[in-house]
Amino acid sequence: MLTINWVLAMNNNSEQYDLVLKGGHVIDPASNLNGIYDVAIRDQKIAKIVAQLPSEQAKEIVSVEGKIVCPGLIDLHAHVYEWVVSDSLCADDVGINSGVTTVVDQGDCGSANFLGFKAYVVEKSVTDVRCFPCINILGTASPDSDKTALYGPDMVDIEALVSLAQENPQIIRGIKTHGESGLMSRWGTQVIQLARKATDLANLPLYLHTGVLFDIEESNRPQVDQVIDQVIPFLKPGDLLTHCYGMRPDGLLGKRLKISGSLKEAIQEGILLDLGHGVHFSFNVARRMIEQGFRPYTISSDVHGDFTIPHSDAFLKYSLCGIMSKFLALGFTLEEVIAGTTINPARVLRAEMEIGTLQTGSRADITVLDLVDGDFVFHDSINDRLVGNQQLVPTLVVRAGQVLHPHGRLLRDLQPI
Ligand SMILES: [Zn+2]
Repeated sequence: MLTINWVLAMNNNSEQYDLVLKGGHVIDPASNLNGIYDVAIRDQKIAKIVAQLPSEQAKEIVSVEGKIVCPGLIDLHAHVYEWVVSDSLCADDVGINSGVTTVVDQGDCGSANFLGFKAYVVEKSVTDVRCFPCINILGTASPDSDKTALYGPDMVDIEALVSLAQENPQIIRGIKTHGESGLMSRWGTQVIQLARKATDLANLPLYLHTGVLFDIEESNRPQVDQVIDQVIPFLKPGDLLTHCYGMRPDGLLGKRLKISGSLKEAIQEGILLDLGHGVHFSFNVARRMIEQGFRPYTISSDVHGDFTIPHSDAFLKYSLCGIMSKFLALGFTLEEVIAGTTINPARVLRAEMEIGTLQTGSRADITVLDLVDGDFVFHDSINDRLVGNQQLVPTLVVRAGQVLHPHGRLLRDLQPI
């Protein structure tokens, strides 16, 4: 009898949940879920998703009726080495307070200052912060266009970077480098080749910035439509090209009507496009790329502050949720924009068993969004306008099982109705 009671007690206990998000519209592209469900969380993990869970099984219930419930958003491209890189912002402002549970810093740190990034950003943030360090030892410590010497082949230490990647596999998920006219006018593809070598040794993906960024050495200015074709031979399936809808003349589309044959082939072979919205996103380029069938695998923001005024976000006009709303206006489905900000970046991070999904056993990182109807005007970086009728506004996040309310200070592109 004692044994039976013990078993009953165990069963009863196993059906108690720490938190239940009740009655929301769950969209989880990774598990093909799209419907009204209760999401139960126990021990900081997703425990169960069912149509209706009896209230007595929950220690805490949060009603999310009428809202979208999706895996915690992942921003694959942001800048959060606050106070060290002048245009970097607070990781929790860009992260949980913007409805994003995982932020990936792209290239702010390098092998010489990664440990500071780990101690002062990764370990101090509520947001899950990962990074793709820059191949150059100081990362983007001085992003001024005229500090190009910091980005040359002499400022690379492959051995140090690979050791750090091996010692910090949870944080370092790839390596960042640049494929643009300024650095190529000085060193051709030398730095990219070093980045290729480091990623091969560390068994990580390579993430390549596209579109002119640094001052160009006029005596050796590359042909704008040859820059991308010169870097493609150093990429492998699973690597990423970012700023895919950027308007720079040496970018993926540039001034061409169609992307180059070698880029098309590279994409067909598995090289991935990342949005990296940033300050050069163009509706015109986006439409032309979409017409040709080239859509971003991952939708990322490239949220950063001002390059010349340290720690200033005064000119920041875009956010990940605002960009997702913009892509709804461009004709992407809700499932597609959620996949581009959840399971797809999780796969790039090789963390799809942990984040980017609501499957049972994954970490309880969740974003709850209001899908607001209305008339909204979206802008690109040259102030072209696009009218849409929906926007996604984060109202709540769950981070490792804990309910948090985003203050939304940086959500300036989500217009009040
Ligand atoms: Zn960036």
